[in-house]
Amino acid sequence: MNASKRPMIIAANWKMYKTAADVGLYMSSFYDALPEQRAGVRLVFFPAAVMIPDVVQAVAKRAQVGGQNCHWETEGAYTGEIGAGMLAAAGAELVLVGHSERRQLCGETDAQCAKKIVAALNAGLDPMLCVGETLEEREAGRQHAIVLGQLSRAIDGLSRDEYARLALAYEPIWAIGTGRTAAPVDAQQMHATIRDAVASIASPSIAAAMPILYGGSVKPNNAVDLVGQPDIDGALVGGASLFPLNFAAIATAAARTAS
Ligand code: PEP
Repeated sequence: MNASKRPMIIAANWKMYKTAADVGLYMSSFYDALPEQRAGVRLVFFPAAVMIPDVVQAVAKRAQVGGQNCHWETEGAYTGEIGAGMLAAAGAELVLVGHSERRQLCGETDAQCAKKIVAALNAGLDPMLCVGETLEEREAGRQHAIVLGQLSRAIDGLSRDEYARLALAYEPIWAIGTGRTAAPVDAQQMHATIRDAVASIASPSIAAAMPILYGGSVKPNNAVDLVGQPDIDGALVGGASLFPLNFAAIATAAARTAS
């Protein structure tokens, strides 16, 4: 039982999968399998940017929609990039920042994440910053130092109101798309460490209110143990969210934990 007053957030990261033609069937299967949406659970979909209007229409206010990335400039000669304001105009309310696939495949840095968070906030989007360590870093016992470094370099210096709009996702890189999940007790320990760090960077009351999601091979059969931890406020789900029945099962399990 999650006794905190923080909302439980269950978010789907569709990565570079699906097209607009898939959205209608996905949502009807998903909501058929989720007859009762409990208060206390917020659902978020992060589709590829081109599908944002379709997903916004299909969820019909039952869920929020976010972009998977944004540029830190409002506009400019940045071929292939997308501005936070463009995501907002398409109907997004949130945006992921610093997902490990972007850090690893596109060389995204903490300094860029910091600028993207500011750009998102200025465009009216709520940023969700992803942090996490590699397997080598964990095996070397450096996971806390790595994650806290990513965190402090990206979120230092925001205003109180801006911190209130920020969410975090702890996603150990070795658990993303690998089928390996952090043990709930290890994930809880990292989440508590992150929350302590937010208390130092921002303030204890901001830290107490900040949603910190876990991500990394969350599935219907492990969701309850993870989101049932006191400092885990939901899940960012990649692979399993591509299948509406699996994602509905995760959301249902989380709703039970939150109630
Ligand atoms: C993710 O992409 O954020 C993620 C956690 O992926 P998966 O659930 O597939 O590990």
